Amino acid sequence: MKILVMKFGGTSVADLDRIRKVASIIENEYKNFKVIVVLSAMAGVTDNLQKLIDEVNYTNSPETDMVITSGEQVSVALLSMILNKKNIKSNPMLGWQIPIITDNSYGKAKILNILDKEIKKNLKEFDVVVVAGFQGISLEGKIASLGRGGSDTSAVAIAIALKAKRCDIYTDVEGVYSIDPKIDNSAIKIDKISYEEMLEMSSLGSRILQTRSVELAMKNNVNLQVLSSIVNSKGTMLVNEEKLIEKEIISGISYSKNESKITISGVPDQPGISATIFGILSKNNINVDMIVQNISQDGISANMTFTVQSNEVGIAMNLLEKSKLEINYKSITSDSNVAKVSVIGMGMKSQSGVAQKMFQTLADNKINILAISTSEIKISVLIEQKYTEKAIKSLHKEYKLSNKILN
Ligand code: ASP
Ligand code: MG
Repeated sequence: MKILVMKFGGTSVADLDRIRKVASIIENEYKNFKVIVVLSAMAGVTDNLQKLIDEVNYTNSPETDMVITSGEQVSVALLSMILNKKNIKSNPMLGWQIPIITDNSYGKAKILNILDKEIKKNLKEFDVVVVAGFQGISLEGKIASLGRGGSDTSAVAIAIALKAKRCDIYTDVEGVYSIDPKIDNSAIKIDKISYEEMLEMSSLGSRILQTRSVELAMKNNVNLQVLSSIVNSKGTMLVNEEKLIEKEIISGISYSKNESKITISGVPDQPGISATIFGILSKNNINVDMIVQNISQDGISANMTFTVQSNEVGIAMNLLEKSKLEINYKSITSDSNVAKVSVIGMGMKSQSGVAQKMFQTLADNKINILAISTSEIKISVLIEQKYTEKAIKSLHKEYKLSNKILN
């Protein structure tokens, strides 16, 4: 039994016409495969449910997850109805009916196990099984959500559990691009990208795939493809690094405006200070990304600058203000008008001068760098948010991504 997992995002099921289009895409595949479809909620639905939760002001719990996952219940049943009307026998399934078992961390639950018995039984009886993404059932038997964008992770996890031939992620763009095509129309589609590069892109701001889904796909070597449900064209295939014949020095540029910068001034320049500051934050599960420390001219005190996600900057500031005596600093400020811009590419590992080119391009455009962080395959800089578009467009041009033919 050859299994294909097809996942459709919110814009692909935004209204009944789009859902009919999805049904016709499935129609092209179901004769060759046993098809498991994974769906998101109709576009905008989850956002609206989140607004209701915010208005009640309730912390993540079984109740909030019951609300936030409800959009998927509607989309899977609607698609199933439309497929049945086309004489494609289908059955919708919610997370608990499979079951997709998760831990109890509501709002961002992790999948622990997927039992394949029910799905397999359904696949014998039906042509297509339509599974609600983004949801599972917790160890204590409550509905749990997998975090925003989580239906990608549902799809990949199901592909792994059922040993699917391929996992196709249908979205509203034609694949992964060298830069956000909505910002720069010289963006080029990447035919093949390594898991590592995609992982960096996802975690650095490209919202095409949920980061956890890429991690899972990489660990389990899932044949993952990103393609459009609107335009019929080849998408982007995720592959192992070794399969990339010619490694691009830079494959893509991404950005995130969801970063905030915190600067603590006048901390004593002595051992243990970083451990104290970042210890306070990590104890409270706050992720710190870029870090810069500079010694002040007196050589006695230092300034510490680092970034956190914008939705956590309030809590972080609160914690650090409460610890003023313990850390023994003079002042603290935060700034959310910053953005992180990153260049990503496998070929960077073996090529020198990549960072220099990035810094020079920004300098030529009079864009100041506030912080830098690097890994083997990416360089990120923090800049003032208002320069984001200028920075990514000029970098895209500088690395000649727009007129290079990628294989
Ligand atoms: N509907 C959920 C969300 O909007 C899950 C998803 O679309 O992946 O985050
Ligand atoms: Mg998504």
